[in-house]
Amino acid sequence: MSVEERTFIAVKPDAVQRGLVSKVIERFETRGYKLVGIKIIQASKELLAKHYEEHVGKSFYPKMESFMSSGPIVAMCWEGKDVVKQGRSMLGATNPCASAPGTIRGDFGIDLGRNVCHGSDSVESAKREIGLWFKDEELVNWTSNQAKWLYE
Ligand code: UDP
Repeated sequence: MSVEERTFIAVKPDAVQRGLVSKVIERFETRGYKLVGIKIIQASKELLAKHYEEHVGKSFYPKMESFMSSGPIVAMCWEGKDVVKQGRSMLGATNPCASAPGTIRGDFGIDLGRNVCHGSDSVESAKREIGLWFKDEELVNWTSNQAKWLYE
C-alpha cells in the first residue's frame, strides 16, 4: 500500500455550525495522517451534483442537496498509508445511530441527514472527489518529520 494514498474528507455544514471542525481534524492528525489540502467552501448545487452523482435522482437527494448547500463545508485532503479505508472506518457507518462509539459519527452525530462528515469510499472515488473539490495547486506536497516514527 502506497504511503502517498489520498482521500477526500469533508466536514459537513452541520458539523461546521456545531464547531466540530477541529475534532475531525484532530482524529486524522493524531492518527498520523498528513493534511495536504484544506479550505472552507460554500458548495454550489452543480458541485454537489457532481460529487453525489450516484445519488442524483434519488428521493432523498433534494433534501440532502439543500442541506449540503445550506452552509460552509470544510473540504480536506488527507494522505497516508491505507487512508481511504481507514478514513471510512474512522468516520463510522453512514447512519450515526449505527456507528460505533469511538468513530466520528458515533461520537458526534445522531441522524442520517446530519452525519457530520464525508469520506471517500474507494481510492478511485477519492481521486475523482479530490479533483472536483481541489485544484492541483491547492494541494501541498510536503514531508512530515513524523514519518519515520509512523512508518517502519
Ligand atoms: N443520506 C441521506 N438520506 C438517505 C441516504 C443518505 O440524507 O436516505 C445522506 C447521508 O448524509 C450520506 C449521504 O447521503 O452521508 C451519502 O450517502 P452514501 O450512501 O454515499 O453514504 P456515505 O458514503 O456518506 O457514508
